[in-house]
Amino acid sequence: MDVSSILDSLNDAQRQAVTAEHKPLLVLAGAGSGKTRVLVHRIAWLVQVEGLNLHNIIAVTFTNKAAAEMRGRVEEMLEVPAAPLWIGTFHGLAHRLLRRHWQEADLMQSFQIMDADDQKRMVKRVLREMDLDENQWPPREVCWYINNKKEEGIRPKHIVAGEDELEAIRVRIYQAYEDACARTGLIDFAEMLLRAHELWLNNPHLLAHYQRRFQHVLVDEFQDTNTIQYAWLRLLIGKTGTPFVVGDDDQSIYRWRGAKVEHLQRLATHFPELQTVRLEQNYRSTGNILKAANAVIDNNTGRLGKELWTDGHDGDLIQIFSAYNEREEAEFVVTRIRQWQNDGNERKESAILYRSNAQSRVFEEMLIQGGIPYRVYGGLRFFERAEIKDALAYLRLCANQNDDAAFERVVNTPTRGIGARSVTMVREYAQANSCSLWHAAAACVADELNFPRRAAKALHVFLVLINEMSKAVEKLDLGEQVEHVVFSSGLIEHFKKEKGEKAEARLENLDELISAASGFDVDEVVNAMQSDDYEDPELQLDPEEVSPLVAFLAHAALEAGEGQADAWEDCVQLMTLHSAKGLEFPLVFMCGLEDGLFPHQRSINDSAGLEEERRLCYVGMTRAKEHLYISHAERRRLYGQDNYAQASRFLSEIPTQLVHHIRPQVSVSRPVMPTLRRAALVREPAPEGLSLGQAVMHKKFGPGVVMNYEGQGSHARVQVNFQDVGAKWLVLAYANLQVI
Ligand code: ATP
Ligand code: MG
Repeated sequence: MDVSSILDSLNDAQRQAVTAEHKPLLVLAGAGSGKTRVLVHRIAWLVQVEGLNLHNIIAVTFTNKAAAEMRGRVEEMLEVPAAPLWIGTFHGLAHRLLRRHWQEADLMQSFQIMDADDQKRMVKRVLREMDLDENQWPPREVCWYINNKKEEGIRPKHIVAGEDELEAIRVRIYQAYEDACARTGLIDFAEMLLRAHELWLNNPHLLAHYQRRFQHVLVDEFQDTNTIQYAWLRLLIGKTGTPFVVGDDDQSIYRWRGAKVEHLQRLATHFPELQTVRLEQNYRSTGNILKAANAVIDNNTGRLGKELWTDGHDGDLIQIFSAYNEREEAEFVVTRIRQWQNDGNERKESAILYRSNAQSRVFEEMLIQGGIPYRVYGGLRFFERAEIKDALAYLRLCANQNDDAAFERVVNTPTRGIGARSVTMVREYAQANSCSLWHAAAACVADELNFPRRAAKALHVFLVLINEMSKAVEKLDLGEQVEHVVFSSGLIEHFKKEKGEKAEARLENLDELISAASGFDVDEVVNAMQSDDYEDPELQLDPEEVSPLVAFLAHAALEAGEGQADAWEDCVQLMTLHSAKGLEFPLVFMCGLEDGLFPHQRSINDSAGLEEERRLCYVGMTRAKEHLYISHAERRRLYGQDNYAQASRFLSEIPTQLVHHIRPQVSVSRPVMPTLRRAALVREPAPEGLSLGQAVMHKKFGPGVVMNYEGQGSHARVQVNFQDVGAKWLVLAYANLQVI
């Protein structure tokens, strides 16, 4: 058998992993060492050489995009369609199970997935029902509490509040929230995983079936699995399955969402036969980038210890740019990207990475001004936009009228004279009678005595609208269903009236939703849910059971929830450092490296938090193949506030010989260097009364030394290295510096 296509492009350690016998195996290796590649080749090996069926393999990835790419790679290598292969994220796979076994999972057949927004709305409703003050019980924190418990596999009944009164209330909220979800057929993201876990625990015959079926369980990015995910994996693997997991403790960046890097170590306890393979050659980055990333991560303690080397060339130095403010930072990045493009490179090979989603806006503005196409990956994506969520809510109500989250969202969108008071009355009725808002609304309309006549009429119109809509779409195909709903809901008319660019974009998005539905491959999704359980006909899913609309809505919820961009086009890629995991780009900009932003303010005084931020920095740096730019701004307007910040401490962890400063710049830890002064000297004359190296005093920042200046008159800015707070750019006219 010719196995060259599987083995030729691997090094010895990679080959060892790919061809390993059927025993638990961990590939522990640093960034860019080929872990994901090994996983894909392993699947091909199992099928082509060991004669396994794709049907017997399940693989877990971190994003849907990674799953799609890996499936594509497997198909290429095996030259057969990889449909029988179960590959997806934990959420995607859990959802697939719950759709197939909704009854055993104790769910409604038409259950819908709630996103974070819906969840918050639901919590607010529960709080109102319980007469609890939102200020005292911020819905965000309640969601956090609930999700956290679910991620730990804990139901309200498992919590013993004891004397703790506040905890007792939290548990009651959690219970009320669960009841409301059950009543309305909604599940949140954390619930999907917990429910899939319980599905197996409570149905041993199902578990046994899947254990028999999935002899090989492969997991990418294992370092970021949380408790419930790991528990789910362990159940599936059981005594007979073979886990094949790849991970890197240095890239564990979801601790804040319950991920536990300790699972890497626990594997050896849970699977005593575990073999570990280490990959040490990096194929992604140039020598300098790799050395810089290694130096940064070296500051963390308690690492499992891996060294990465490359036989590639050293490449460029790491370019550090110190901007005056966030706009200058963005201008710089956009200028460099234009150069990159002019040099004949593709835009999609460049990525702008940042710590916080809110940072994208300035880059977006500059890119739009510069006429450079871009895509925000992981920000507000298509399925999360307000108008799309409105349209989806109408569709959800067509699929399940008890969907309270959808009801609340659109009962008065577009406005139809149903005021907050009416909605409150409906809610109260629903609460008193333990029914859905839909039933409550119908009852309120019927009971005209208590309900104001005008409000009852408006509500009646809404109920009729939804009823008619549900009937009308019954016989239509999916694309037509969406089109019908978008128009008859009044959304199109509503945005047409709104006018302006924003409204136009909304209309375009609604159009796009119709085309997304028309092009949606219902069969593929339904077939995937059906799968090919020929060995156990009882588990066959009746294709009639999953309507195309339900499949489409689930697809939309999963896509939006996880944060996938559309297909890659040739455009600049913008994303948070978190969503860059696993990806690679020839040209990378890491922006906003300022203490307080990155590392994040909340982590600065917490050593474990700081180490996680450092891992995130390591992840960011190791996304770069050839060119890595790191920038920071002296002054940043973010969340409506102006902040002055020192350069991130991570910058001073990069060895100086690997760095090239694009603008004369001193950081806190580095003293004034003559070369920097020389660079500044060739610029314009100094503003009056100041000279380089001059000692000055600032009211707030204390004593410092003038390092650099630019501009004249009221535009003059001066950079001062303050003894206590480090280097800062100040507007001279406002700085009120005293020469000392
Ligand atoms: P990360 O930790 O960032 O997820 P990874 O360990 O999964 O990285 P891959 O993405 O699999 O690494 O590989 C990094 C790059 O190196 C890819 O472009 C891959 O094609 C390439 N690569 C991996 N192994 C080899 C090899 N043996 N020969 C040539 N290129 C390789
Ligand atoms: Mg990878």
